[in-house]
Amino acid sequence: MRIDILTLFPDMCNTVMSESIIGRARQANKVEINCVDIRDYTLDKHRRVDDKPYGGGMGMVMTAQPIFDCFQSLCREIGARPHFIYLTPQGKTLTQTRVKELAKLDNIALLCGHYEGIDERVIEALKPEEISVGDYVLTGGELPALIVADAVSRMLPGVLSDDACFEEESHFNALLEYPQYTHPSVWQDREVPEVLLSGHHANVDKWRREQSLKRTYERRPDLLNHAELSDFDLAFLSKLKKE
Ligand code: SAM
Repeated sequence: MRIDILTLFPDMCNTVMSESIIGRARQANKVEINCVDIRDYTLDKHRRVDDKPYGGGMGMVMTAQPIFDCFQSLCREIGARPHFIYLTPQGKTLTQTRVKELAKLDNIALLCGHYEGIDERVIEALKPEEISVGDYVLTGGELPALIVADAVSRMLPGVLSDDACFEEESHFNALLEYPQYTHPSVWQDREVPEVLLSGHHANVDKWRREQSLKRTYERRPDLLNHAELSDFDLAFLSKLKKE
């Protein structure tokens, strides 16, 4: 998969995407991530990419022309129109379900706004999918774009050491993950649950499933409506509800 991040701060994005698991995945060509500088496409002689809002008011608005030309140039380079996403607090909130769908695409392009946002006409012209990372406002779309790029990249084959890594994680199957423990087995008089030391895989699996159901029930009961639940799960949950 190829991901292009259209931003006024390419170094910021590139730095984050060069570290740890995603950095290694890029080096191993499991995912291509390019950070494209929108400013390179401005026709303004002073290289400006923003201006005052019509109608007055605070702040600056990113102008349409550099964004439009940057995206057109990307389409020409790829030879196809990438799935285009604008990160905005006005978009649909990102979910793991949407992340899984995006991970099946060949090309996605992520547009980061800044300042007061971008000229509405470029949104009308390019019709991106609008995605939010939550009901709060950040200074720019870079962190949201990095969230999308990270979440999508880790779904790609070979990026994590084992696909099972993400299949058991929170939200993959609409459940929260069970608690995790590592060495030492006793820390500050707190012991790791005995079943995890037993080496009995079936019991470990059963315990983890129950913990996952319990956590989801206690913290995010709304998710249970979307989870695939077995008879065992339903019996366990009804026992929990009676407690
Ligand atoms: N004036 C805009 C509004 O009220 O909707 C907010 C602009 S925000 C300060 C600047 C940029 O940050 C946005 O264009 C968007 O790209 C990004 N941004 C801020 N919060 C975001 C969020 N929760 N999700 C996705 N992008 C966000």
